[in-house]
Amino acid sequence: MKSLYVVIVGCGRLGSLLANDLSRQGHRVVVVDRDERAFANLQAEAFSGFRVEGDAAEAAVLGKAGVQEANVVIAVTREDSLNFMVALVASKIFGVRHVMARVYDPRREDLYQELGLQTVCPTLLAGEAFSRLIQTALDGNAPSP
Ligand code: AMP
Repeated sequence: MKSLYVVIVGCGRLGSLLANDLSRQGHRVVVVDRDERAFANLQAEAFSGFRVEGDAAEAAVLGKAGVQEANVVIAVTREDSLNFMVALVASKIFGVRHVMARVYDPRREDLYQELGLQTVCPTLLAGEAFSRLIQTALDGNAPSP
């Protein structure tokens, strides 16, 4: 399997989970977070990449993380607008081929897609999961024929 250079922006619950998994799979991973305490989410036995402490809104911080060399950039801070900005800078300024971002507001997804950015929307995923659970509950409570 090809080893990728992956920059993950935001090392909270989601970013650290991705960083641990991708690093364990043998990819070169750099995580960026403005809060040093977030790096405690990384597992010593899984994560062998690099940490960059800084505000991802600053292009210099993204440069320090080596975004210009990255195959993949994943923007998963908890702010849609920051993820959008990071994704745009990575794609249009640094020329990264695969750029993906977490977007809480489903109404923003079209804009990302028009710009060639990939998105995952936890709000929509949770909505679908709850609908399935509700359907299962309804099926379980269906009166017997
Ligand atoms: P979570 O919502 O648990 O997935 O965590 C989101 C992470 O994004 C947290 O660890 C925040 O410290 C981080 N974060 C939020 N804003 C910024 C920023 N401007 N630059 C870098 N990291 C950020």
